[in-house]
Amino acid sequence: MTKPDADAAAMRLLHHRTAALAVGDPVAEPLVATSTFRLGDGDPAPDAIYGRYATANVEAAEGRLAHVEGAPCILFPAGMGAIGATMLACAGAGDRVVVPSDGYMHSRVVLRDILAPLGVEGVEVPTLDLPDADLDGVALVLAETPSNPGLDVIDVAALAERCRAAGTRLAVDNTFCTGFLQRPLDLGADVVVSADTKAAGGHSDLILGHAATRDAALGDRLRAIRKFMGMIPGPFEAWMLSRSLETLEVRLDRMCANAAAVVASMAEAGLPVSWPGLPSHPQHALAMRQMRDPGYVFGVTLPDRATAMRFLDRSGILSATSFGGTHTSADRRGRWGDAVPEGYLRISAGIEPTGPLLDAVRRGMAAL
Ligand SMILES: *Cc1c(COP(=O)(O)O)cnc(C)c1O
Repeated sequence: MTKPDADAAAMRLLHHRTAALAVGDPVAEPLVATSTFRLGDGDPAPDAIYGRYATANVEAAEGRLAHVEGAPCILFPAGMGAIGATMLACAGAGDRVVVPSDGYMHSRVVLRDILAPLGVEGVEVPTLDLPDADLDGVALVLAETPSNPGLDVIDVAALAERCRAAGTRLAVDNTFCTGFLQRPLDLGADVVVSADTKAAGGHSDLILGHAATRDAALGDRLRAIRKFMGMIPGPFEAWMLSRSLETLEVRLDRMCANAAAVVASMAEAGLPVSWPGLPSHPQHALAMRQMRDPGYVFGVTLPDRATAMRFLDRSGILSATSFGGTHTSADRRGRWGDAVPEGYLRISAGIEPTGPLLDAVRRGMAAL
């Protein structure tokens, strides 16, 4: 996504509600907590019937997300809701689904423990091998780029072209980037899935997700799964997301700038840092082409577990899983069994002022 496109999307998102206000309307989104709505005599059919079908706050959040994605969006109560529903919508018994072996762990668990017994075969492939994966009998490929936690980057447009030729759907988990940093649908993906729990929600107080697609039939199928399987978020969560989305672009700007500054200071100190924005990253050129910004998440490999914990302790950087929040936080991924060294920290830059954040990082590095 080029900068002017992103700016235009951010402008539309911010004015999503205010552009259509009548005199006397509340400027902020009202929270409408109701499970049911008054009905007429049945003709015409009312828009609002029952809270499991649709609600004003869910539709308002989806309307805002649509500006970010450049496509209709379907909100789910978690990122995994969006991923699970997409797998259900795209694959059935006898189909294969390819997922990254080094990507978000629960996408693999859904295939192994829930869909495999129903006859869907999961195939796990390392992110960097996805572009050449065997697509025979594959209904869906789920890709994640940059991958989590390794930050490998693959060419979405090239993979989308192969998938299209094979009659395979391509889903991209765009949680790291959000539509402001990367637009997989513009690169040819069929569907984007995203955990709004992370940067989109952005305040570490919300579990939510969405799918975005320009394929109307797939969108209808996802809405049907949501409606009949009861996978719609409550109005409050949707309302929180609408509020968060208004500051997403400005938060991402600070987060990405902070990541660039911290990465530069760690690289200067000779630490092995991994970030798609560094010329030393193996897919740097591709990342700079495909992403609007190399992002706010980076990895650093410290000698061992104790050193990593000492760094966090001295710097005061929050030790927590997840990413994309207002606070800079670090997750020692070896703790969760990821195939990374014990001293590997995945760091998510927050929105702190850059100077004091760098001071904190330097205090941590002095303790190494
Ligand atoms: C967190 C995350 C998810 C799952 O999101 P939930 O809201 O926790 O269900 C999926 N994919 C990626 C890349 C994530 O980071």
